[in-house]
Amino acid sequence: MEKLIITAAVTGSLPTRKKTPYVPIRPEAIVDAGVRCEQAGAAVIHVHARNPRDESPSADFQIFKEIHEGLKERTNLIIQISTGGRAGMAYEQRSDRLALKPEMASLTTGSVNFPDSVYANSPELIENLARDMRTHGIKPEMEIFDVSMIANAVALAEKGLAVPPLHFDFVMGLRGAIPATIENLVHLKNSIPAGATWTAAGIGPAQLVMNTHAVLMGGHVRVGLEDNIYFRKGELAPNERFVERIVKLAAEFGRPAATPDEARRIMHLK
Ligand code: ZN
Repeated sequence: MEKLIITAAVTGSLPTRKKTPYVPIRPEAIVDAGVRCEQAGAAVIHVHARNPRDESPSADFQIFKEIHEGLKERTNLIIQISTGGRAGMAYEQRSDRLALKPEMASLTTGSVNFPDSVYANSPELIENLARDMRTHGIKPEMEIFDVSMIANAVALAEKGLAVPPLHFDFVMGLRGAIPATIENLVHLKNSIPAGATWTAAGIGPAQLVMNTHAVLMGGHVRVGLEDNIYFRKGELAPNERFVERIVKLAAEFGRPAATPDEARRIMHLK
């Protein structure tokens, strides 16, 4: 099996400082979290921006730019910018950040009902984002919230809007999306094209469980406060501790953590 690629999803859209004091909100705090996660063994950082004023999700190009530049200056991490958009952010707001030309960006290939809202991604929006990524030489991480989204991602590749081998991230255990069970994970893994790489993310307590299955099945993992703020029941922790834990666990199973350059090779980044 390949070495384990660990993606740190340090901020996301939802966790607030009120829920956990460890979530980085300001650009410099997000960069600092990246530095610590890289030291702990992460190879990829999944980036969201927040409004420092009220912690709400931000589409501000300048904030993404500050985070991107800081991470490039202080780490060798693969930077993966989220194109996710809450609260009805329009295509333009979700795409202009791609002009930063991060090595990767997330691309959700379908719509899903979140517990309190519709996460709408129309076919046209998905194709436009995919085209922008291809234009800028950015590798998409296909964010898979349900099985049908895999077929949508493969269809993009068939249209020439994504370049194989594809990389997938299975986001499991969010209410409204695919439940976090090992049966579902096996089905997702068996549904992607040969040669594709994949990562498993789990929401809340499903994070450690799905990560561990992925380690054993030859996949890769996503950890961090975007998906899960509790290190164990009742105990909050900073992002790097989640990275440290999966590094230790995976090493026991013969999957040492990949460096960012090793991850570039495994995912066929330029
Ligand atoms: Zn995200």
